[in-house]
Amino acid sequence: MTTQRNDNLEQPGRSVIFDDGLSATDTPNETNVVETEVLIVGSGPAGSSAAMFLSTQGISNIMITKYRWTANTPRAHITNQRTMEILRDAGIEDQVLAEAVPHELMGDTVYCESMAGEEIGRRPTWGTRPDRRADYELASPAMPCDIPQTLLEPIMLKNATMRGTQTQFSTEYLSHTQDDKGVSVQVLNRLTGQEYTIRAKYLIGADGARSKVAADINLPMEGKMDIGGSMNITFKADLSHLAAHRPSILYWVFHPGSNIGGLGAGLIRMVRPWNEWLVVWGFDINQEPPKLNDDEAIQIVRNLVGIEDLDVEILGYSLWGNNDQYATHLQKGRVFCAGDAIHKHPPSHGLGSNTSIQDSYNLCWKLACVLKGQAGPELLETYSTERAPIAKQIVTRANGSSSEYKPIFDALGVTDTTTNDEFVEKLALRKENSPEGARRRAALRAALDNKDYEFNAQGTEIGQFYDSSAVITDGQKRPAMTEDPMLHHQKSTFPGLRLPHAWLGDAKEKYSTHDIAEGTRFTIFTGITGQAWADAAVRVAERLGIDLKAVVIGEGQPVQDLYGDWLRQREVDEDGVILVRPDKHIGWRAQSMVADPETALFDVLSALLHTKQTNQANQANYS
Ligand SMILES: Cc1cc2nc3c(=O)[nH]c(=O)nc-3n(C[C@H](O)[C@H](O)[C@H](O)COP(=O)(O)OP(=O)(O)OC[C@H]3O[C@@H](n4cnc5c(N)ncnc54)[C@H](O)[C@@H]3O)c2cc1C
Repeated sequence: MTTQRNDNLEQPGRSVIFDDGLSATDTPNETNVVETEVLIVGSGPAGSSAAMFLSTQGISNIMITKYRWTANTPRAHITNQRTMEILRDAGIEDQVLAEAVPHELMGDTVYCESMAGEEIGRRPTWGTRPDRRADYELASPAMPCDIPQTLLEPIMLKNATMRGTQTQFSTEYLSHTQDDKGVSVQVLNRLTGQEYTIRAKYLIGADGARSKVAADINLPMEGKMDIGGSMNITFKADLSHLAAHRPSILYWVFHPGSNIGGLGAGLIRMVRPWNEWLVVWGFDINQEPPKLNDDEAIQIVRNLVGIEDLDVEILGYSLWGNNDQYATHLQKGRVFCAGDAIHKHPPSHGLGSNTSIQDSYNLCWKLACVLKGQAGPELLETYSTERAPIAKQIVTRANGSSSEYKPIFDALGVTDTTTNDEFVEKLALRKENSPEGARRRAALRAALDNKDYEFNAQGTEIGQFYDSSAVITDGQKRPAMTEDPMLHHQKSTFPGLRLPHAWLGDAKEKYSTHDIAEGTRFTIFTGITGQAWADAAVRVAERLGIDLKAVVIGEGQPVQDLYGDWLRQREVDEDGVILVRPDKHIGWRAQSMVADPETALFDVLSALLHTKQTNQANQANYS
């Protein structure tokens, strides 16, 4: 049976009975109000990861979602290195890899007239080309993988729920009011029709691109929604004979009509190798939306695959709009938005789910610190300061990636064709034995190579930089990058950047700097002559009531720099120190030992956590 609907519309199906009792912290009180510390609206990548991060931190939370289950179509799939690092930190990397298509099968991105037809070009992507593979392997303990959203969401949701989240399906957010002590949220149980109130200290709106929470707090948005029309067609067909020798998650098809709407060209995307697929095909959003039926869906699939009698089983289809919009501020008081609610863009470059999970990772350690009384509420303001520029950056990049197909159409000479026959005829121009043919071939190769900005853009994926009051730079400016910041990330311990990865260990174990700096605490890294920093950290942790781990790296220590990788990357002297935040961004660094390391560390952490500004009345109000 097939369905035609938007992915975010009603999920038909059987009812769910909630038979798990509420935990002690989340019990209805006498006025029948359920209480919790954080209420999360939405169980997509942003919501389910937020629930998992908060539960891992021991923060009580309830996650509600409108539907009876998680995503029902395999929208997001490319899971980039930064996200894999985060999922590794959350302890679920193995569970994700067990369901994912591995990195080595991701990358022979193909451009073709049809999947069975002539190839226009090919380019190794996602760090699978040998020179870029080195960049990817050197940068992180985790490699990208491909896991459909339909499989990733349940893993995060399961782990969140097992760690303490109260997950409520078929429960709809209706409205909220907030005061200086918390947020009262009106929700609807869609099975019983009953409305009730959840009282939370904080609310996270992770309710997708048409977020009601974002609308209710009137988040300022820039850009436009629905700038192009796309349809997803999911289907089963055995295409191993066309894919296995050039394994890729993406086969881009230059077929008549493929430059109208959509992602920039027609797309056949692997869902499961090599018998389950998703076609993305465009339509003119200014015209009446197409009304698809099974026969038409099969015909579109057959056209793109290029086999007229292909045996196809259609699983479903839906229409969706491409967006170009981001929020310039992400919160109001005790209410925060994350994910597609704050960045709405085409799936080009696979940034949506990744950035959604990264938003929540940034927000949740801050919420945990404030709720545990370790930080002042001003820390929460840095969520917007740090993540709003990222929202703008990825919306711009994803839309840029879509428009970078035009030079390929131009080089092929098909941009302004008016009929299908003309399109097909012009595709042959690139093969001509003529100066014009040679010019086209050169332009085509340049346009295909330029797609590295979508498919080999490690800088965009892991190079995020934060400049806020939760990063202490002592007035220094970030050094300029010598490499292209979209293709390459800045390998540095400059405060605000992501902690560089280095393999460390001893005779028995090997682990990454990212494994030592756990997401539930702050960490300092120093060397043997920096022992005084480690001693100071114990006292500072006690004074501030925070979890602060000190790692002394060097010969004879439990943690050794066996390959010298850390020495080459740390950029501070052996007796210097690097402070890493729970989200593995550098919070501060000192080049070398100072006269009073305890005071230095105490002052920096107090400033970063905004404890100095936190008087007792404020603390009572916000935690
Ligand atoms: C074809 C396609 C391919 C894609 N490929 C990739 C990719 O490779 N990599 C990538 O990173 N991204 C990709 N994306 C983007 C990705 O799917 C989204 O960015 C991601 O789903 C956003 O996550 P989210 O949690 O913010 O929102 P959503 O996934 O939209 O989740 C919203 C949640 O909110 C709930 N909800 C909504 N309203 C209410 C309400 N009133 N009350 C209660 N609950 C509510 C919904 O039930 C849902 O659980 C792709 C998208 C498409 C369309």
